Amino acid sequence: MNNYGVDIWGDNNFLIEESFVKLNYKSKPSLYQIVKEIRDQGKRGPLLLRFPHLIKKQIDNIYQNFERASTELHYKGKFQAVFPLKVNQFPSLVNALVEAGEQYHYGLEAGSKAELLIAMSHTKNSAPITVNGFKDKEMIELGFISAQMGQDITITIEGINELETILEVVQEQPDVIPAIGLRIKLHSLGVGLWAKSGGINSKFGLTSTELIKAIELLKSSNLLHKFTMIHFHIGSQITDIGFLKKAIREAGNIYADLVKLGAFNLGTINLGGGLAIEYAQHKNNCEAKYSLREYANDIIFMLSTIVKSKKVQEPNIMIESGRYVSASHAVLVAPVFELVSEGYIENDLNLKEINPPLITELHELYQYINTNNALEYLHDALDHLNSLLTLFDLGYVDLQDRSNSEVLTHLIIKKSIYLLQDKNLEELLHIQDMIQEKYLINFSMFQSMPDFWGLNQHFPVMPLAKLDQKPTRSASLWDITCDSDGEIGFNAKNPLFLHSIDLSKEEYFLGFFLIGAYQEVLGMDHNLFVHPTEATIEINSNGYEIKNLTESSSIIDILDDLNYDTTQVRETLIENINKSSLISITLKEKIINRIAIFLEENGYLKTVK
Ligand SMILES: *Cc1c(COP(=O)(O)O)cnc(C)c1O
Repeated sequence: MNNYGVDIWGDNNFLIEESFVKLNYKSKPSLYQIVKEIRDQGKRGPLLLRFPHLIKKQIDNIYQNFERASTELHYKGKFQAVFPLKVNQFPSLVNALVEAGEQYHYGLEAGSKAELLIAMSHTKNSAPITVNGFKDKEMIELGFISAQMGQDITITIEGINELETILEVVQEQPDVIPAIGLRIKLHSLGVGLWAKSGGINSKFGLTSTELIKAIELLKSSNLLHKFTMIHFHIGSQITDIGFLKKAIREAGNIYADLVKLGAFNLGTINLGGGLAIEYAQHKNNCEAKYSLREYANDIIFMLSTIVKSKKVQEPNIMIESGRYVSASHAVLVAPVFELVSEGYIENDLNLKEINPPLITELHELYQYINTNNALEYLHDALDHLNSLLTLFDLGYVDLQDRSNSEVLTHLIIKKSIYLLQDKNLEELLHIQDMIQEKYLINFSMFQSMPDFWGLNQHFPVMPLAKLDQKPTRSASLWDITCDSDGEIGFNAKNPLFLHSIDLSKEEYFLGFFLIGAYQEVLGMDHNLFVHPTEATIEINSNGYEIKNLTESSSIIDILDDLNYDTTQVRETLIENINKSSLISITLKEKIINRIAIFLEENGYLKTVK
């Protein structure tokens, strides 16, 4: 039975039972049931479901693994972590995350003024705040205000000029000064789609020459005691831990040498993010080639070895994993709006009294195909189709013949796939390509999975129901934007099969998983399909609760966001209706009311049910 690779990417978060995909937690509700309940409240279009227990699970995993590794290796430095807000700033995630992390003093990382203000207003109980990215004087002032509020904030300097700005602010307000971190430029390169953050040409960080300069500057300004952390980040989704190990070796040595240069309060190495998660649905496409256990062990083992040989103290460790913490918590559920199949059925066949010989042969292949001859007949059929298309180009057969040959070949392909389904032939996968069914999905790829569009990042997808039935349709997925890029084509290396469905009788929902990192904020409002309706699902032992149900923006609000004069939009629409001589007076009022409703609803499509 097809389990859509849930044993590969699912991390035990989901299970398949009685034809449904369910959450593997407490009362184990099915996604289908949750979606039905929300739709019964009149919510239409795609739904983004958040599961706070999965955020907590990831945070627990991180702290527990580092605690275990520290104990096993007798490591004395302490472990800290912060969530980089750029990965997802939506309040339902941030609030759940702050709550789940409170017991560990899990903190927040900010890369802009807006994010810093979120961090300053959401951090609890002296949990750490770190600030990365480019900063102007105002942003540094904000960091000072955070320190004045008593928060444990570290401003990480990306270049010497930022340090100079800090010195300026210190002149103006010398009483409470935040801790200072230095971002180091490593020569170790990152790997994968997001590799540009590491390496000597990377956008961020100080070279070794600049580091020495920075230390001198701090010393001469009497601020050396404020320098507590070095930081690096070699990129996101580091699939091979070798790259991280290389970076740690380099950073560990820099750390030890800076301490020896006199940085007496330097006590923390911040290793940034990069911890990978598994997105693959097929074993041969796996991405993450190491576990969190290995990650924690390697970091602690390597750092303790380096500092031992250089005779300095074991540093505290900080990490800024974002993808690992937030990816799994969000699932997008989108209804299939239409099946755009090429509709080749036997009834489409319209054979003539006398047909060209190749068509007669195709017809015989179709009649006599069986399990034993299927592959041979399939090859013959594909050959015949090719010849017939050439004959058409040369004018020897007509459009009706061409249609008959296409219908017959497709029928033969379908029948042979059915007859050979248990044989697992590689060749069949490629042939599926020719008869793929196009599932039109009520969502926008640009809004909900921009990394598929921009970087070809795969996200696991599966239907929410019918999982006790073998899916036989090779599927390509189309979104509802008017853009041909909004498509996930059938791919023989990563094949997706879905069920045959009759949408006039039943609904069919697809779940897109692991979309909780980066996708929501990177999402684009292409065609003005905006962030979908979302809900937080808290699962308990008896059932679950639906919280923070927030409907996708209404059309009038979307127009308002774009700075349209919405009063004028409304008035002009009403005026046009009133002016029209094509509408009777009694109908006008009805239509005006309809328009008012359209403007207040979200812009996604409505399926009939
Ligand atoms: C983006 C970013 C992160 C998060 O990386 P993940 O791969 O999502 O864990 C961490 N630190 C910094 C400085 C970043 O820019």
